[in-house]
Formats: sequence, structure tokens, C-alpha cells
Amino acid sequence: MVDNKELRQEIQKILKQDDVKYVICYKKGTYGFQTTPYFVSKKDNITEIIFSPLCVNNLSSYVKSEEENKKIGVVVKGCDSRTLVQMLNEKRLPRERLIIIGVACGGVIDVKKLQKNISEPLENIDVFEEKDKFVLQFNNKKQTIRKKEVLLDKCLHCEYPTPLNYDVLIGEKTKSLGNEEYKDVKDFEKKKPDEKWKFWEEQFSCCIRCYACRNVCPVCYCEKCMAEQLDPQWLCRSVNLSENAVWHIIRAFHLAGRCTGCGECERACPMDIPLMLLNKKMEKDVKELFDYSAGVELGSKPLLAIFKPDDPEEDIK
Ligand code: SF4
Ligand code: SF4
Ligand code: SF4
Repeated sequence: MVDNKELRQEIQKILKQDDVKYVICYKKGTYGFQTTPYFVSKKDNITEIIFSPLCVNNLSSYVKSEEENKKIGVVVKGCDSRTLVQMLNEKRLPRERLIIIGVACGGVIDVKKLQKNISEPLENIDVFEEKDKFVLQFNNKKQTIRKKEVLLDKCLHCEYPTPLNYDVLIGEKTKSLGNEEYKDVKDFEKKKPDEKWKFWEEQFSCCIRCYACRNVCPVCYCEKCMAEQLDPQWLCRSVNLSENAVWHIIRAFHLAGRCTGCGECERACPMDIPLMLLNKKMEKDVKELFDYSAGVELGSKPLLAIFKPDDPEEDIK
């Protein structure tokens, strides 16, 4: 569990450094159950800074190099830190320009699951962690709920609850919960090819190509996305199964060996398309074929920048 007082004190200390421009952290959003990214600089109110089980956003998405060579600070959970490591390995910015504030994470809440589990309106709610439970505090009443019932799916088998790389850690190191690795993918792999296609046909048909999945993804940062290129044009603007399928297949391959499984794309999708099934399938294949996992080791080269002289693929030699 993260002590907000300690978190604020650390951020205040960081902001006192002359070479720090701002720290990206969380504060309460418009409604009680929402939290929002907060870019806090020296002049801002640090008492607004929070970390709670409602802090779902992957703040790595907001990290970028500042022109004045100033440092920036960022608060990361374990899964977010994996993204940050991948971004550093892809040389998005130098490590020395970042101050990473890791938070030892006990899991974050899936608001859609929460809405199904409680009858109270969520406009005014605070959440506290208590071992394997969450205590929900409404205006004048409390409700306790088992964590398992409302955690985001990714948290139910989290591999890296403690950030992989940090300068400061708030809270105590937590153990991995990983025990069902790729269960959904393995189940899906057992289906017949026509069943698999039928499933994805249904899913891709629902896609409205709003590109929220791309916009929220921290490792989807091409200046000009192939989806919007006109010369050459890879993809027509029309929203139909064929064009949608091309969009998803190109994006999945573009992220192969780069996606860190943060789940933000699926969370942002307004059509509830199970994008993590596709991402996890790519991740599993990359692991099995190349013994490579994105973002777990700072300093490792990106998958597509590695060449092994003993590569079994004849065409590579
Ligand atoms: S996946 Fe792990 S680190 Fe990420 S929010 Fe869930 S429990 Fe925390
Ligand atoms: S967020 Fe969902 S609906 Fe929007 S483009 Fe991505 S998959 Fe399609
Ligand atoms: S594709 Fe989705 S899960 Fe993978 S890094 Fe991007 S937002 Fe995260």
C-alpha cells in the first residue's frame, strides 16, 4: 500500500531540484471514482497528489523529452515501468533525463467491474486497500469488496507489481501474482481456424476505428501513423470488416516484441474489443520463438534490432 504523505514528500523533494521541470503523477478526477494524470511543477499544490487503487492510467504515455534538457519525474506502477523500460530501450529519451518514482502496486480497479458490483452511484467514492479487500468509502457509508472481484484482469496475474526500474520506491516490494500465464491465449489456440476467424470477424466488425487504442498506447508513437498515410495508402478510411481487419493486423505486427501488455488499449476501447488477446498472442509467440520479452531489461536492444549469427532461419543468414 502506498503512503500518500510519503509520495508527496518525495515529489516535493524532486521538484526542489533546479533541473526538474515537472513530475507526472495522479490527482482526483472530476468524479470521485476517476483519477487523472497531474503534471505538477514547483508552483502547484502538492496536496492534490494521490495514489490509490483507482490510478489506472499508464503515465509512461505522457513522457517525452523536454527541449530545455530539463529532467522530468514520473510515477509508475510495475506494469507502467515495463513500458518505460521499453521506451528507454527504444531511445525515446535518455534515462538520465528521467526521475522514476516507483510505487509498489497492490492492483488497480476495473471501474466496469465495480459498477456491476455495487448499487451506490460512483460519483463520490474513495477506495482504500486492506490486505485482499478494498474498502469503498461513499458519502456516509462504507462497503468492503474482495479485490479479486473488481481488479483489472491484468492485475489478477501480475508479473511485475514492483517496478522494474526506479530511482525512488514508495511502499514495500510486492511479489508477482503470475500463475495463469497466457491461459486465455492457450484456450484460444485450441479453437479451429474457422472458429478463430469467426470470433475475430465479430470483434473487428464492431471496431469504429476511433484509434483510441493507438492514441493511448505508449509505444505507438510514429509521427505519421500508417493508418492516416495517403501516399502510399495502406488503409482506406471506410470502416468495414476488411479495412478494420487490416488495421488490427498491421497494428499487432507493429507492436510485436514492443507491446508491454499494459492493457491501456483495451481499457480505452469504447467497443470493448478484447485487444489484449491479440497482444498476448503476439507476446507469447515472440517469447517462444525468440526468447524475448519487451521492457523487462533496461539496456537490452529492441527485438528487431537484434541479429544472431546462429539464427535458424535460412533467409536471415
Ligand atoms: S498489472 Fe500489476 S503493477 Fe500493473 S496495475 Fe495491476 S497489479 Fe499493479
Ligand atoms: S479503440 Fe476500439 S473501436 Fe477504437 S480503433 Fe481501437 S479497437 Fe477500434
Ligand atoms: S498495445 Fe496496448 S497493451 Fe501493448 S503497450 Fe500498447 S496500450 Fe499497452
